[in-house]
Amino acid sequence: MQRILIVEDEQDIADLIGFNLQRAGYEVIKAHDGIIGTTVALRERPDLIVLDLMLPGRDGYAVFRELRRDSRTVNIPVIMLTARAQTEDRIQGLEAGADDYLTKPFSPKELMLRVQAILKRAEAPPGTVNFTHGPFRFDKTSLKFYLDNEPAELTSTEFKLLLFLCERAGKAQDRNDLHRTIWGYSDAAHSRTLDTHMKRLRQKLGVHGSWVETVRSIGYRVIQAPE
Ligand code: CA
Repeated sequence: MQRILIVEDEQDIADLIGFNLQRAGYEVIKAHDGIIGTTVALRERPDLIVLDLMLPGRDGYAVFRELRRDSRTVNIPVIMLTARAQTEDRIQGLEAGADDYLTKPFSPKELMLRVQAILKRAEAPPGTVNFTHGPFRFDKTSLKFYLDNEPAELTSTEFKLLLFLCERAGKAQDRNDLHRTIWGYSDAAHSRTLDTHMKRLRQKLGVHGSWVETVRSIGYRVIQAPE
């Protein structure tokens, strides 16, 4: 059974989310402040974390940064919860590397769709176990990624994005299609999500970031490997 940690100080919201996740077949763990949330995440290593940003003790960003620094939790997908007015917050959250976000108030159904899309993304994609393109190598079984034959850390979202583009190298991929494929839904309001992920991905690829091209008014493309 997949386990989801909810870090949320508002009891009503935590209970509502927890109830719906349990009903959908997930095991739920809850923490009501940032410090306990961090401790529980490191100890339990859940499959996914729903992380509120406004938390007592330690705010969601600080929790997130700590979890991304620790090898035990670096790859755990995170959905951030932000208040409606905090537009800057969600952008910062995405730039920090959150997999997705939801703006309060949201319906439990919306959250469920996000959770399911992300957990599905973390499963091994079909096809050959290993896929190599230029300096990139993907082990689809373990979701491990190698850059110039050195292991490199990508989140499952970044892994899927880059793999999808590499498997279609040379062809520009439409941003809406990309979003629908990776996040499981398409929404113009979330176009920022794709761009912030691409920006982070390129940073992680270092000198090889130039393999990923922005195609104006279409989306993104990974260049073809030389013969
Ligand atoms: Ca809160």
